Amino acid sequence: MQNRLLAFSILITMVTSTTLQGAAQNRLERVDLLVLGGTIVTMDATRRIIDDGGIAIKAGRIVAIGARNEIERTYAARNRVNAAGKLVTPGLINGHTHIPMVLFRGLADDLDLQEWLTNYIFPAEAKNVNEEFVRVGTRLGLAEMIRGGTTTYCDMYYFEDAIAEETSKAGVRGVLGETLIDFPVADNKTNAEGMAYVEKFVSRWKGNDLIVPAIAPHAPYTVSEDHLKAVRAFSDRTGCPIVTHISETKRELDDSVKAKGASPVAYLDRIGFLNERVIAAHMVWPQGSDINILKTRHVGVVHNPQSNMKLASGVAPVPKMMDAGVALGLGTDGAASNNDLNIWEEMDTVAKLHKVFTGDPKVISAQQAFELATIRGAAALHLEKEIGSLETGKRADLLIIERDSLNQIPLYNIYSDLVYATKAADVESVVINGRVVMQNRRLLTLDEASIKRDARVFREKIAKSLAKPATQ
Ligand SMILES: [Zn+2]
Repeated sequence: MQNRLLAFSILITMVTSTTLQGAAQNRLERVDLLVLGGTIVTMDATRRIIDDGGIAIKAGRIVAIGARNEIERTYAARNRVNAAGKLVTPGLINGHTHIPMVLFRGLADDLDLQEWLTNYIFPAEAKNVNEEFVRVGTRLGLAEMIRGGTTTYCDMYYFEDAIAEETSKAGVRGVLGETLIDFPVADNKTNAEGMAYVEKFVSRWKGNDLIVPAIAPHAPYTVSEDHLKAVRAFSDRTGCPIVTHISETKRELDDSVKAKGASPVAYLDRIGFLNERVIAAHMVWPQGSDINILKTRHVGVVHNPQSNMKLASGVAPVPKMMDAGVALGLGTDGAASNNDLNIWEEMDTVAKLHKVFTGDPKVISAQQAFELATIRGAAALHLEKEIGSLETGKRADLLIIERDSLNQIPLYNIYSDLVYATKAADVESVVINGRVVMQNRRLLTLDEASIKRDARVFREKIAKSLAKPATQ
């Protein structure tokens, strides 16, 4: 009898608590996703770090961020990600890529830029680049970037409309520029064709949640003054960003001084090209007042330390640009000159390269290196109001990072751990625009096996296309 009574009272308690829970749930605000537990590295203006934190996400944006128990008291969601014991950081930003070029990874190494471009890359592109090449390469690059925690990338290549389709399908954010160059390329044979392509491309993707369409004149030495002016006019009319390469090598600088009587930056300023929509990759050789011009025109600059080192292009004056307040981010450049799309390595390299180059180990701190890959990188792409930090109102682009790998133990300082010890393989889960695209290292939007298979098929085609006929 006593047992029965006990069972009855337990049943009553269960019913009551379930009802109470239900009532409490009803009072909670419904959101799409909750990330609960873990240490949140916000990268907000005060660089707040929240232990045992929580993030509520709705319609792709962060609606609340704070202590886990407060978030749990206020919000409910069917999808919950447990980040206990992990780090939660903003997604990383790769500010400069040519994503399909992953298919040329390792094709030609250990050469200077001109030799590498004219003898290998341009011929390989002329023989192989078509829409299928671009799609296969883009999917491979996207998978590599998601695994490494890159949530936004800025690209310039051909068939950029196909790149935008693949990128949006994979759920990745991209500032994607269709390349214009003054010689016939795979998708457009003339400047008029290129401009018509860009017109359609930009109107198709403008306003998209993930894709920011852009126009991408290759460089001031491969695109004429008239065509550059037309690019600027197009950007003024449509509001789209302009992605380009500026001042990559000493030779580009010397040629520009000889032909135009000015450095590439001064020349572009003289023709009225530079403004707050320009995103300039490299900037290895700014001269005289160039840095001041970049700052006053609000140009975003993307530094590619590993690509610049590999091609021996020089060392960009990054500390000087940071001191001057230039909006600066990090990029990998195409995988053919890197040879991966790994922003963790760029963070590690940017800190170390400038220490050894200036002889000052304090010149770029671990925290500053992490800023370059997140909030500063967002500013370089002119997207700092939308991404780059974890704050209410911003897009929900975030990483959950393992802190239990051998290379991370023991732990003392979060930024040092992130920049000098954490590897791309330590990224466990990735959320972009509120959507989980990788969970516990499983890609949810891309099929890794078919990506590898397709890329290997291209490897054979590319190798065959470049093979010289056998000599007798
Ligand atoms: Zn590039």
